[in-house]
Amino acid sequence: MKRPLNRDTHIVHLARPPYQDGRRPVNPPVVRASTVDFETLEAMNQARSQAVRGEQSFIYGVRGTPTSFALETLISHLENGAGTKLFSSGLEAIAAVFLGFLKPGDDVLVVDTVYAPVRALLNRFLADRQIQFRFYSPREPDLGALVKPNTRMIYTESPGSVTMELQDVSLVAAAIKDRPDIVIACDNTWSSGFCYRPLEHGADLSIVAGTKYLGGHSDVLMGSVTANEKTLASLNETVGLLGMAVSADDCALVLRGARTLHIRYPAHAQRALAVAQWLEGHDEIVGVLYPPLPSSPDHDLWHSQFEGAAGLFTIELADSKKNNRHVSGFVDHLKLFGIGASWGGFESLALPCDLTGLRSIEDSRHQGSLVRLHIGLEDPRDLIADLDQALAKWAAGVK
Ligand SMILES: *Cc1c(COP(=O)(O)O)cnc(C)c1O
Repeated sequence: MKRPLNRDTHIVHLARPPYQDGRRPVNPPVVRASTVDFETLEAMNQARSQAVRGEQSFIYGVRGTPTSFALETLISHLENGAGTKLFSSGLEAIAAVFLGFLKPGDDVLVVDTVYAPVRALLNRFLADRQIQFRFYSPREPDLGALVKPNTRMIYTESPGSVTMELQDVSLVAAAIKDRPDIVIACDNTWSSGFCYRPLEHGADLSIVAGTKYLGGHSDVLMGSVTANEKTLASLNETVGLLGMAVSADDCALVLRGARTLHIRYPAHAQRALAVAQWLEGHDEIVGVLYPPLPSSPDHDLWHSQFEGAAGLFTIELADSKKNNRHVSGFVDHLKLFGIGASWGGFESLALPCDLTGLRSIEDSRHQGSLVRLHIGLEDPRDLIADLDQALAKWAAGVK
């Protein structure tokens, strides 16, 4: 029997162009196309029937190009799914999941620690369309009890935004095993399909912002949704009906980033762990929220289900109101950390996170000032020295 190839080898070898005349470029060509020109009507009809069967078929730019198909293939493999669709951003991918799988009168349960723009999407868009939503605690012990007859989706994100609570997707799936009409969707951006595959734990849809680690260089936006056999036809239909399409140039950039995911991703984690451990021992820090740390309440779950970690975690600074210090007194003094949203690029970032209005359930709140750190590919000794001097200035109240 032939031994199956390991993941890293697949990342390098999958989704490469075919040889033609005994040669090929290493990367799929960037195919910019609206019109696809067929030589015969028969060729066109054949290609169209392939598309109708849900196969990747190059018939018109909106329906995908050889470049987007290559990226879809790679992500499907990472996520171990039946098929993947691409979107112009992570947020668009999430919106497509809600649009495609919910209708007026339906109810959706959403984890309270959801990515903040999703909360706005629910409040401002779904509510107007008579779709009910309810938030549940990331620590909810009995999700099954919250499910109603009209519940059609459980939307989760693991780990949760900012506060990093992990979700055991297999427990979510077990809680609704008698309800095949409910779809479980999971935002898997932190893992980027690299260290966790929600579909293997019972999720039906896995969403990744390729903007983060897949692109990996802070220069491109991309979203993906990977479906299992149960959800693929609906996902394909939604994307087709709404005419959602991505540019071949962006796909090529993300594909280029993805070829080194297995080198970059663990390098972020290794540096992040060194920095997180150092921060844990610092007097001004009351908490480091990062599942790979043994102090994390989710450490055991992380250890049993995850094969690695992202370089993204959150620190909690000693209460700023009590001692009248503002978080800017820390962040503004950092020299190697940019101040910015997004993450997953090669550079380190710091972002103060105020959870006001972003949690509906009391138990997912924290007391101190939260700062999310993305640890880039710098030498961690330099990052630690930078954090050390900024924390000293914060402690001294230097403006
Ligand atoms: C960044 C992010 C998104 C959205 O991705 P964009 O491409 O920036 O729209 C969605 N979910 C999570 C968890 C993210 O971090």
